[in-house]
Amino acid sequence: MSYYIDVVLPIPLERLFTYTVTQAQAHRLRKGMRVAVSFGKTRIYTALVMDIHSNPPQAYEAKPIHQLLDEVPSVNEIQLRHWEWIASYYMCTLGEVFRTAVPGALLLESETIVLLHADFQKESIQLEEEEEMVLLALKNRGPLSVNDISHLLEKKTVLPILNKLVRLKAIMLKETLVDQYKPKMLRYVRMAKSYNDEVALEQLLDSMKRAPKQIQAILALFQLQSSEKKPVLIKSLQKESRVSPGVIRALLDKGILEEFSLRTDRVSYSGGDDVKDSVGLNQGQNAALQTMKEGHNDGKVVLLHGVTSSGKTELYVKLIEECLKNGQQVLYLLPEIALTAQLIQRLEAYFGSRISVYHSRYNQQERVEVWYNVMGEKSKAQLIIGARSSLFLPYSRLGLIIVDEEHETSFKQYDPAPRYHARDAAIVLAHMHDARVVLGSATPSIESYYNVQAGKYAYAGLIRRYGNVLMPEIELVDLKLLRRKKRLKGHFSDRLIELIHETLEVKEQVILFQNRRGFAPIVECTSCGHSPGCPNCDVSLTYHRHRNQLRCHYCGHHAELQPACLACGNPSLDTKGFGTQQVEEEALTLFPEAQIARMDYDTTRGKHSHARIIQDFENQEIDILIGTQMLTKGLDFRHVNLVGIMNADTLLNFPDFRAHEKSFQMMTQVAGRAGRTEKRGMVIIQTYNPYHRILQQVSNNDYDTMYSEQLYEREQYHYPPHNRIIRLTFKHKEYNRLNEAAEWFTKALRLKYRSWILGPEYPPVPRIRNQYLKHVLVKIPKNVSPSKMKNSIKRTEQSFHAISQYKGVRVIYDVDHL
Ligand code: ADP
Ligand code: ZN
Repeated sequence: MSYYIDVVLPIPLERLFTYTVTQAQAHRLRKGMRVAVSFGKTRIYTALVMDIHSNPPQAYEAKPIHQLLDEVPSVNEIQLRHWEWIASYYMCTLGEVFRTAVPGALLLESETIVLLHADFQKESIQLEEEEEMVLLALKNRGPLSVNDISHLLEKKTVLPILNKLVRLKAIMLKETLVDQYKPKMLRYVRMAKSYNDEVALEQLLDSMKRAPKQIQAILALFQLQSSEKKPVLIKSLQKESRVSPGVIRALLDKGILEEFSLRTDRVSYSGGDDVKDSVGLNQGQNAALQTMKEGHNDGKVVLLHGVTSSGKTELYVKLIEECLKNGQQVLYLLPEIALTAQLIQRLEAYFGSRISVYHSRYNQQERVEVWYNVMGEKSKAQLIIGARSSLFLPYSRLGLIIVDEEHETSFKQYDPAPRYHARDAAIVLAHMHDARVVLGSATPSIESYYNVQAGKYAYAGLIRRYGNVLMPEIELVDLKLLRRKKRLKGHFSDRLIELIHETLEVKEQVILFQNRRGFAPIVECTSCGHSPGCPNCDVSLTYHRHRNQLRCHYCGHHAELQPACLACGNPSLDTKGFGTQQVEEEALTLFPEAQIARMDYDTTRGKHSHARIIQDFENQEIDILIGTQMLTKGLDFRHVNLVGIMNADTLLNFPDFRAHEKSFQMMTQVAGRAGRTEKRGMVIIQTYNPYHRILQQVSNNDYDTMYSEQLYEREQYHYPPHNRIIRLTFKHKEYNRLNEAAEWFTKALRLKYRSWILGPEYPPVPRIRNQYLKHVLVKIPKNVSPSKMKNSIKRTEQSFHAISQYKGVRVIYDVDHL
C-alpha cells in the first residue's frame, strides 16, 4: 500500500499539496507535525501535515517528502480549526494563516538566512559533528542561507539540524525589524556569586567592619531583594541605603557587587509563587465583577465599559486569578506593544513568574521559547500578555481571554493577509476552547456596544474613577474667534499657554496631542500653488523640519527641501497644516524652561523606543510630551494634569464613516490621561468648530448619545454594525489595465448585488510604490449569508483571473475593513 500526506505550505496558494511517505513515516506522522518538502524547482519549505491517507492525487505525481521535522505535533487541532475559520472568514489561504501564526524560526526554508547567536556558549553543550560544522561555517563566513548550508553539508535538507540549533539558541534568523528595536535597558545590582553561601558572606561582613557605609548598602540590598522579589535597580539601592554613589561604585570595583542590565519589556520577577494577593474591590467594582461572572455563566462575551481609571485592570486580575487557580491558561491581548512594559510591571506583583510576553518585536528565539512553553503548559507561560499574534500560540487549556482597549483599530491586521481582527478572532478561539472573554474599554467600539444591545454580549459598567477621582474638566477653545482677536501664538491659544504655565509651576506634566507627525503636511508655493509630490505615490510630501526634508509617509521616499518652487522658481514657499514637530518647535520657544519630548512614529522607530520615552515621562524627566495617537493607548501616568488637543478638526473631517466614532474615542482616551490621581485634570480642546456634536459629546462624556447618533447614520447608509462590509483593493502598475479590470469585476458583482456594491473608486492616495490602487466596497445585505456572498465573490475572481489581460492584477480582500 502507498501512503500519502496532504500538507499546507506557508505560501498564498489555495490548495493543500499531496506528497508520498513511507509506511514507517506514515505510522509516525500525525496531523499538525512539520515536514520538509520541496516545492517548485528548487525550494524547500517547512510544511504542516493536515491529513494522512492512501489516495494518490489525480492531477500530478506525488513527490516524496524530505523528512519529518517533529516528534509530536507543533500545532494542535484547535489551532488548525481556528486557522481554517480565519482563512475562510477573512478570505485568505490557510498557507497565509500558517505563515503568520507560526514563528519564522519554526518555518525554515531554503531562502532563510541564519546566523550565529551572539550569546551562545558552545562549551556547555555536546554537539554532533554536522552541527559543529554549521556553527564553524557561520563563525567564519557570517550569515548563510539554508541553501548554502545544505551545500556545505552536502545533503539535501538540513532543517532538522537547524531546528535543533535554533532550539539550543546556537543560531538565529536574520531579522531586520528586530535589529532596529532596542528596548530600554535598566541597570541592576546583585551580590557577586562568590558570596552566595553564608560562610563567605559572614567572612566578608567581618572583613568590612571599617566600612560601615558599605555594610549599610549590602544590608539594604538584602532587604530590597526579599521585599521586592525582583532584581534591584542601582537607583533604588542608592535611594534605599542612603549611601553616596561612590560607596556602591567601590563595592562594584571590589567585585563584591556586580552590575547587570535587563530589558524593561521582560518579566523580571524572581519570587516564584510567592506573590501579592489581589486588592479588595470597592462597591462599584464588586457589582461589575458579579455582573461579569453572571454573563460568563450564561456563556456570553462580556463587555466591560469603564471610564478611564475606573479600575478595570483590577477586575481582570480577579478573573485571571480564578482561572489560574483552575490550572487554565489566560491570554491578555493588548493593542500596542508599547503598553506591555507598564502592564508587566503591574501584573507581575500578582502573578510573578507565571507571565510570558509574546509579540512581533520579540526575536525569533524568544518567540520559539514561548511557543514551546505554552505548548508544554509550563507554569511560566500560564498568563500570556501579547499583541495580536499571541492569539496563535498553541494553547491547550485556555480559560480566559481579555481584550484590553477592545475599540483599538490596531487589533486589525492591515497587511499582509490574514487581515484578521484579533478581537473577533479571539472570540472565535475562546468559543473553541469553551473559554471566557472580556472586552474592556472606556470607549467601546460601536460594534461591541451593538452586540450588547442585541443581547449577544453581556454588559458590565464602571461609571466612576477609582477613589472617586473626578473625570477631567473639558474646555473647548474656539480657534476662529481667537484668530480674529489675534490671541493665538502659533498653534497655541492664550488659554492653553496659561494653563501650561500653571501646570509646570506646580511640577505637574502636560500632554499635547496632534494627530499628525512631521512638521507640516504640505509645502505649497505661494505663487503657482505647486506642492512637491512623491515620485512613487500620488501624495504630497510631508515637510520634516529637523532634517529639512520632504518625506513620503507611504513609501519612505525623501528629498531635501529646495529653496525655491520646482515648478515656477518662486522662492517663497509656505506650509499648510501642522504636525507634531511644529508643535514641538513652538513649545520649545514658548516654554524654554520645560523638558519637552515628542512621541510619534518618527521618534519611536530608531533607538528611542516607545518604552524609553514612556519611562522617562513616568520618571518625570519630561514635562511636556507631544504626540500622535500613540499617546491615546491606555497609558497610565500619575502626574499628568493637563491635556491639550491641538486641533480636533483634522480628526473630525477625515473622510471615513468611522471618523466620528474614532474622534470620540481618541479624544476621550487622551483626555483620560489627565488627572488620574487625587487632583481633577484639565483638558483643552482647540477647534474651529466648537459646536460640533462629537465635541459636545466628548466634553460631556456622553457615550450613549454618540452611540445612538452614529448608529442611526450607519443604519441609514447600511454600514457596520448593521451590515458587514468587505473592501476589495485592485492593484496594478498600469493605470489603464487597472481601471478596466476594476470596472469588469465591479460590473460582474453588480449584476448580482446591485446597489450593495460601491465603486470602483480611487483611494485618497491612488498610487503607492508605483502601483495604482482602486477600491470597491461591498456591503452585505441582511438577508444574504456572508459566507455565501464571499463564495460568490471568490467565484467572480476565478472568472476574472481567467481573462488573460487581468492575470497580473492583484485582488485583495479586507473583510470587516476598518
Ligand atoms: P483602568 O484599567 O480602568 O484604567 P486601573 O485598573 O488602572 O483603571 O485603576 C486606576 C488606579 O486605581 C490604579 O492605580 C489602580 O491600582 C487603582 N485601583 C483600582 N481599583 C482599586 C482597588 N480596588 N483598590 C486599590 N486600588 C485600586
Ligand atoms: Zn511615496
